[in-house]
Amino acid sequence: MATGFFWDERCFWHAGGQYAYTMPIGGHVQPLAAGGLPENPETKRRLKNLIDVSGLAKDLDMRSAPEATREMLLRVHPESYLNEFKALSDAGGGELGRRTPFSTGGYEIAAQSAGLAVAAVQAVTTGELENAYALSRPPGHHCLPDFPNGFCLLANIAIAIEEAKAQGRANRVVVLDWDVHHGNGTEAIYYNRDDVLTISLHQEGNYPLDTGGFEDRGEGAGLGFNLNLPLPAGTGHSAYLHAMDSIVLPQIEAFQPDLIIVACGFDASAIDPMARMLATAQTFREMTQRVKDTAARLCEGRLVLVHEGGYSEAYVPFCGHATLEALSGSNITAPDPLAEALQVRQPNSRFDAFLKGEIDRFAEEL
Ligand SMILES: [Zn+2]
Repeated sequence: MATGFFWDERCFWHAGGQYAYTMPIGGHVQPLAAGGLPENPETKRRLKNLIDVSGLAKDLDMRSAPEATREMLLRVHPESYLNEFKALSDAGGGELGRRTPFSTGGYEIAAQSAGLAVAAVQAVTTGELENAYALSRPPGHHCLPDFPNGFCLLANIAIAIEEAKAQGRANRVVVLDWDVHHGNGTEAIYYNRDDVLTISLHQEGNYPLDTGGFEDRGEGAGLGFNLNLPLPAGTGHSAYLHAMDSIVLPQIEAFQPDLIIVACGFDASAIDPMARMLATAQTFREMTQRVKDTAARLCEGRLVLVHEGGYSEAYVPFCGHATLEALSGSNITAPDPLAEALQVRQPNSRFDAFLKGEIDRFAEEL
């Protein structure tokens, strides 16, 4: 069985250019010549281009998918939000919520992005594919049911989970979010539920500023089924793997899922403009391998990665390539041009010990 790669050129056409970095243009903020928000198509398009050029795409089952239907979206988002979004999209675009501009047709492109995640989960849970990667854009993990934020317009992963549940293809699901920002949308949607375990590894005090605390463990039936691991700026390769081995994988094991979904951002990389972590392509390769091994042990390998953030145009493609190599088991590589440079810039042993101590403190409190 193959690894699926779900993508669609239309997702790269999602646009919203009224920003320079995250600063609204106007006043003293000059528009950027090359585009607006850091959430731009190039990081994703260049990942797709790299797997074409390296030849890895030949080892993957390359597919598109239909837009997520209105019925699918309504399982997660209220009708009032969808109506408002669709109307503004039809009228030329604009902005709802916080930092989530879109242009004409943005509603349909967001439904396309969610549709890639839906189809990836469907193909894996029906046994048609071994595992899958969805190159969804716009991303989804920040989106609340009625409040888009952090470049996210629809909750792609939650939409895919709810469709799988409606079809009786998944019962207990883990969402592991290693995007460097807190997965506040996914957390909010599942905060009161015990059938979806949400785990977010993120940089402490990045985005959003008011969510992502370790103490936020869920509520009601969901108490104990939400886990945030806010890590200090500067966390590198070995501390990320320590967090995986000492907390994340044991928590997944204890939950006994029948499906694992990774909210896969590459913005914890060492040269990302939106965060201050020190992960490398090798970090993403090894985290993917660990989750894949865990899925093989617990749930017949049922694993889907859905693309979230990652803002280094130059480096995201190499992180994504390493991830896809591990996911598919392909031996077609795209050697990381920065491997050596980033290796020598990892935290020193004193800081690494401090980081692992922080992680060990979380483990003791669980
Ligand atoms: Zn992010």
